[in-house]
Amino acid sequence: MDQHVEGRNLVTLGEVFDDLSDGIMLFDADLRVVAFNRAYARLFELDADEIKAGDTLENVLRTLTGRGMLDTGSRGVDAEVARRLAGWRTPENRVETRRLRNGRLIRITRRDLPDGGMISIHVELTEADERERELERQRALMASILANITDGVALVDASCRFIAFNDRFLDLMGVPRGAVHWGVHFSELARHFADLDGLSEAGRKTEIDRRYRFLSDPSRSRVVRNMFDGRTVDVNKAMLPGGGASVLTLRDVTTDLRRRREVEDARREAEEASRRKSSFVARLSHEMRNALNGILGVSALLERAELGEREQAQVGLISTSGRMLLRLIDDALDVSRITAETSDIKVEPFSLPELLDECIAMVEQPAREKGLELRREGAAVPLPALLGDAVRLKQIVLNLLTNAIKFTERGTVTLGLATELGPNAAYLSLWVADTGIGIPADQREAIFGEFYQIRDGAAGRVGGVGLGLAISARLIQAMGGAIRVESEAPHGSRFTIALRLPFADEDNGDTPQS
Ligand code: ADP
Repeated sequence: MDQHVEGRNLVTLGEVFDDLSDGIMLFDADLRVVAFNRAYARLFELDADEIKAGDTLENVLRTLTGRGMLDTGSRGVDAEVARRLAGWRTPENRVETRRLRNGRLIRITRRDLPDGGMISIHVELTEADERERELERQRALMASILANITDGVALVDASCRFIAFNDRFLDLMGVPRGAVHWGVHFSELARHFADLDGLSEAGRKTEIDRRYRFLSDPSRSRVVRNMFDGRTVDVNKAMLPGGGASVLTLRDVTTDLRRRREVEDARREAEEASRRKSSFVARLSHEMRNALNGILGVSALLERAELGEREQAQVGLISTSGRMLLRLIDDALDVSRITAETSDIKVEPFSLPELLDECIAMVEQPAREKGLELRREGAAVPLPALLGDAVRLKQIVLNLLTNAIKFTERGTVTLGLATELGPNAAYLSLWVADTGIGIPADQREAIFGEFYQIRDGAAGRVGGVGLGLAISARLIQAMGGAIRVESEAPHGSRFTIALRLPFADEDNGDTPQS
């Protein structure tokens, strides 16, 4: 009767336990169920009334056997239940960890109560266990990454102890695999440096000191080390957040370096070969020009001699052909000179308006022959003397004018100039426009390349080798300027040069414009 009353009180207590997440079971002094909470029923997935107050421990054990609570094994359920009952109050039975059939892992703690009863507390470990297994998986993953990585990797703590490293790290440090284990100090590692074998005792010590200094100096993060076995190793050190530990990454760059040196050598050889070729062309053109000048000189003499009409015509042909050949050679010489970078742009005072007048005068005749109008454009601003290479600039403008006349059948060829005066220099915009055949959009860049001619009937007929614009573009570039072309085929072309030329006399410089 007493027990019954006491039991009822405890049932109420059991209801209080219902809010707890751990499973709780209370037995009385006779090991009969007094109460259990909801978490207990949930852990063992008990149906309503499957276990109830008053049940014997034996009943409970039999019910729970089906849940995996007991290992029945070969002994069978009865024997196992009997064994458990007999040893229920022994110290070995106080704490146990079991995995239930439903996969839950629980830790059971049993305690005696003052009235002779017992309390069992069931804590679910499943989550903690999962975390543990996840950690284990991560550790295994780390280990296999470390093992398979091609770089040598090591983790070092602040006192130069190697927390972890891979085999590749040992290889690159010149330490035989398996000679040291994780946790060794640098000094222990250094004892095994195989690549120092050939050194004297003193040399060995100095080298080890050097490597230790890099490792222990927080201000240094990278070193490229020539190992004594001939390899070159790139060593990087990165501090881990929080200080203390750092990660060492070692990479064998021996072949990279060799390859880079080979590429570098090949490039130098190719440049040298190209330079030699250019200078050969320059020499050759020079010799050819000398010979040609001889021929032209003699044919000029012959032209003045008293010859029959037929011979006169033949000598004329020699002269024209010779002059054409001379121009060609001059162009070729120019290109090779510019390529060999032996041509230097002169810086001499000259008058730009005079230069342009001369250019116009030189093309007046051929323009008239084709019935083309020659026009000047741009306001005539008084220009002080400028510093630059007048001969080269004249060559460029003439080349543009000649082309314009060459590729225009009717209409006009225009030479334009616009200037803006800065404090120390004039900013020029020079253009040559024509009303000729124009240049297709897809070839506007290519025409500045060497030996480029537009594959179109008209251009082919008029001669030239496609060097003029290439030379002009390079010269302009060497002068620090730029050349561009606009064209709306078939409505003509417009070549524009932008160039900055300093004033010859500083005092001539205008005050800055406001
Ligand atoms: P080329 O000696 O053949 O004239 P250039 O380098 O001076 O060599 O010109 C290259 C090509 O660009 C020419 O062959 C021609 O096809 C094109 N070109 C140059 N100037 C003009 C122009 N004013 N109008 C149309 N085409 C041009």
